[in-house]
Order: sequence, then structure tokens, then C-alpha cells
Amino acid sequence: MKSLIAGNWKMNGLRADSMALIEALKAKAAGSAPGCDVLVCPPSILIANAMAAVAGNPITVGGQDCHAEDKGAFTGDIAAAMLADFGCSHVIVGHSERRRDHAENDAQVAAKAAAAHRAGLVAIVCLGESAEEREQGRAAQVVTGQLAGSLPPSANGANTVVAYEPIWAIGTGKVATPGDVAEIHDVLRAELVSILESQGEAVRLLYGGSVNAANAHELLRVPHVNGALVGGASLKPDDFWTIVEAAPH
Ligand code: PEP
Repeated sequence: MKSLIAGNWKMNGLRADSMALIEALKAKAAGSAPGCDVLVCPPSILIANAMAAVAGNPITVGGQDCHAEDKGAFTGDIAAAMLADFGCSHVIVGHSERRRDHAENDAQVAAKAAAAHRAGLVAIVCLGESAEEREQGRAAQVVTGQLAGSLPPSANGANTVVAYEPIWAIGTGKVATPGDVAEIHDVLRAELVSILESQGEAVRLLYGGSVNAANAHELLRVPHVNGALVGGASLKPDDFWTIVEAAPH
């Protein structure tokens, strides 16, 4: 399965910073065509600029969130169809920062993923346990519960990516060991197959949580790791491209 390396820029960068970042990535892609799929998810207000900048380039653009409804009185929110209309291919849903800061639960994440599917987008469904849940030995149980609750009936191998992002590893510099990642990805793959049958084999499973230029090569070779969701390191073009080049192909 071809790897996906996705950069989540979060709420970082003014227009000039983002354009400089995208130009740097474009130059790298022109120098050596990526052997994996490459996605960047800028703040939504910069998507139009990013999309114009990547025209004709293999780098694709996605959103960081969408609303569960297709349209309506939802001040400040963005519909999946609006992202698709601007040329986005993917949208992240259920990131732990949204689950934490906007109290999003599994059912809402599933509704957002369904909205993404209706708009023709690939939903990147995020899940992951807290430090406390891991210490209690409940990591596998927590992520399988999140997976079952966060996948809508419309999910299949082509329109859904699952990102395992242990909360304690996001933005902390603490990386899950390859053994921890292998154990959880194995459990998630089995659960995907149990929920989606043969389609469950085709869903790409990303790891996210302090992936950087130094650890990417090893993490991307863990069984059932089909790519990475990258936060901090995606803002540094050299580091992000080292991760892209580390993906097996
Ligand atoms: C993320 O927020 O999706 C993430 C993985 O962040 P970081 O790489 O900075 O840990």
C-alpha cells in the first residue's frame, strides 16, 4: 500500500509563512518526485492560496476539520463541500485537539467523517489514548472503542484513513516506541477488518505523535503503518521532506 505523509499545520503561519513553506515543498517535490502521497493541511483561510500554489504539483491539500452538516446556521464552521469546492482531497476529523478543545465525541467525529464522504473527501479519522489510559493498560481497548464509534457506515478503504495519535505523544517530543505502535496498529487493523470486512485491509493506518526527521524511517517500517500524520515537523520543509523521503516505496 502506498504511504501517505500528511502535514497538519494547525493554527500556525500567516499568509507569507505558509506560502514560503509551500514553495519550499514544491521545490523539493520538483527535485525528487515523492514515492508516497503527500498532503498538507493548512489553516482553512489559507487553503485557496495553497491550492493555487500546488497546481500541477503532486502535493495535495486538505482541511483540518469540517462540520457534520452540509450547510446551515453554523457560524464559523466550514462544510466538507466547501473544502471539496476549493480542491481539497482530504479532511482531518476527530483530532485530539478538537476532541479536547471542542468536546467532540466519537459520534460527532463519525458524523463529520460521513459529511466528508458525502462531499467526496477522504476522511482522516484520528484517535488515540491518553497517558492515563495507557498507564492503566487500556490503550488497545480505548482505541478500538474510538474506532468503532468514529467510523460512519459510509467508510471504506478508499474514502477513509485512520490516524493513531497517542495524545501523550502529540507535540511533546515523546514518541511511542516501534513496539507500542506495532501493537496498536495490529489491533486497529484487526478491528478495521472486523468492522469493514475486506475493505478494512485497504484503509491506510497512519501513526502520528512527534514524528520527526530522525525517527520517521523506523516508525514508517512498523507493520501496518501506512504513513504518518505530522504536526510540528510539517512546518519545517527540510524535516517534512526527510519524512516524505523516509516513507517506504
Ligand atoms: C498532530 O497534532 O497531529 C501531531 C502528530 O503533532 P506532532 O507531530 O507535533 O506531535
